[in-house]
Amino acid sequence: MSVGIGRILTHLRDFGPTSRANLARETGLSSAGVTKICASLDEAGLLRESASKETALGRPATEVSIHPQGGYVLAIHLSPVRAHVAVCNLAMQVLSEDTVDYGASASETDVVERAVAVARGVVTAARIPFDQLLGVGVGVPGSVDEEGRINTHSVLAGWRNVPFAKMFEAALGLPAILSHNATAIAIAEARYGAWKGSESLLYLLLGKGIGGGYVKTGAHERTSIVEIGHVVVDPNGPLCRCSGTGCLERYFSEAPLRQMVGRDDIPSSQLISTAMQVEGWSEIYEYFVQALATTVTLLGPETIVLGGDFLTAPDHFVAELRKDLPPRVMPQQRANLAIERASLATPSGVQGAACIALDTFFFSSGPAHLGRSSNHANRA
Ligand SMILES: [Zn+2]
Repeated sequence: MSVGIGRILTHLRDFGPTSRANLARETGLSSAGVTKICASLDEAGLLRESASKETALGRPATEVSIHPQGGYVLAIHLSPVRAHVAVCNLAMQVLSEDTVDYGASASETDVVERAVAVARGVVTAARIPFDQLLGVGVGVPGSVDEEGRINTHSVLAGWRNVPFAKMFEAALGLPAILSHNATAIAIAEARYGAWKGSESLLYLLLGKGIGGGYVKTGAHERTSIVEIGHVVVDPNGPLCRCSGTGCLERYFSEAPLRQMVGRDDIPSSQLISTAMQVEGWSEIYEYFVQALATTVTLLGPETIVLGGDFLTAPDHFVAELRKDLPPRVMPQQRANLAIERASLATPSGVQGAACIALDTFFFSSGPAHLGRSSNHANRA
């Protein structure tokens, strides 16, 4: 039954309110199966019925949709220096949020303790019972093992094989799942953002580093971390944190951009506009376009979504990229390539973490308590 629940929930997430009859057609489940699953979802307070719509035959058809307040997830975005924590509902709306700075020298245990303290405050502020939380999504700056349990390597934070999922589970008593931050945001943009419907999406995050995430949507969804910041743009360049030399990140991320401009105090929101006026800009912009063209040639995304400090880049930056990038990729990739700014609220790290938590603890097979009671009912 849980597979059927997952199919129904994901259909409602991706296509919005619809009739039970249409759900049966679109998911390939039997009408009786859909009716039964909808009844159990309804009983658990996860569905709501909306105003009837006239059908072609003039008969009213009641539509069902997911009740946004049917459950909640905790979303935690860990950067190397700060945690951003939010409680989100089933429509991925943020109910309450807060941040805590722990600084670059905090131990992994400190990071978890500080984030958990903020999480408890955020849940209280959201005025929801703790037992309505389905789980915790944690976005981290680096690679994650296949099960979403361990932050295997974060070049930026210096974290190696940190079992964050286990640590948050022990502290909060809720199931937890980890994801690479930019990949999680890419998925969130593809599910909930303005570029929903794109067959494939590359999300770029410019900040302390420059990283990305890729998602190919559809029945055989696949995702991957995109380490564009460690594409070598000058083999004779300076040493990088990753132990390579001349990586894009050594030229095109916050610290080197500030250094090029010669001012440490420039807010990140003005970084690109200021850097564009400096003499060295054309050289590092060329590095960026080169690395991005290679990335696009290999992955072939339909949409490139610019996030982080790119969000506040001036319009002529985006216009130039739209002009300069397409000639450097394959003709078939060029034809439909869209370059857009991110559409989710910023900072979007928590939205990515919330999206992963909702995918894992709700949309894949319904909430755990529902699956258990359904299985129980099936056996009875
Ligand atoms: Zn590197």
